[in-house]
Amino acid sequence: MHLLISNDDGIFSPGIRALAEVASEFGEVRIVAPDVEQSAMSHAVTLSRPLNYHRTPLDKFAAYRVNGTPADCVALGAFHWEKVDVVLSGINLGLNIGNAMWHSGTLAAAKQAALLGLRGIAFSAPTAAENRKYDKIKSYLRQVLNLLLHEFTMDLVNVNFPLNPKGIRWTKQSVRHYDGNVIPGKDPLGKEHYWFTVIEVEEVSENTDRWAVEHDYVSLTPLRLDLTDHQKLEQARSMILFPK
Ligand code: MN
Repeated sequence: MHLLISNDDGIFSPGIRALAEVASEFGEVRIVAPDVEQSAMSHAVTLSRPLNYHRTPLDKFAAYRVNGTPADCVALGAFHWEKVDVVLSGINLGLNIGNAMWHSGTLAAAKQAALLGLRGIAFSAPTAAENRKYDKIKSYLRQVLNLLLHEFTMDLVNVNFPLNPKGIRWTKQSVRHYDGNVIPGKDPLGKEHYWFTVIEVEEVSENTDRWAVEHDYVSLTPLRLDLTDHQKLEQARSMILFPK
């Protein structure tokens, strides 16, 4: 099995090493990842300039760093390897639950795989997991890979680990609105600047990704590329549109 590995924290992130180590138990691993951090770049692609590869020694792994986004890395990596079976992205330094899915470069790398007709799985964990060398997470990562690598019907899955996992749950995305608050301040020269804050308004509902992680479960959320609200579409079809 050919496993292409990428991330959005950059090729030197400890998270990508942890993922490559465990993934190499399941197949041949190749790493193609951004040369610098690309967090919160979402599914951005580079259209205005050419991309380059640089071979980068990374333990025992074949690894290449690219001057592009996570989605660029997956496009290049999939093109230059005879047959990629699954793209694994992460382990991101920080959770990607709820609305973070809209912003995440980690998830975008997995989405790019799904857009190419491949399977993609995104992995994220709290930043503190890095200090513990992913000790508690690795055995669950192994279980999740064992499950998902053999589950051919799921082409896109978002996986989030709590710091101390006690089990695994299938979940849905937690969607909560932002309060929209922006905090103004002044720099040392007296010029105004702004900090964007993300405070979510509603409570956490059960069986969501956020609920699972807050209750120490590994969260597996199956996703799809189709963003259409099919229920609303059905309702909308009964509306009369003018002109007829
Ligand atoms: Mn990141």
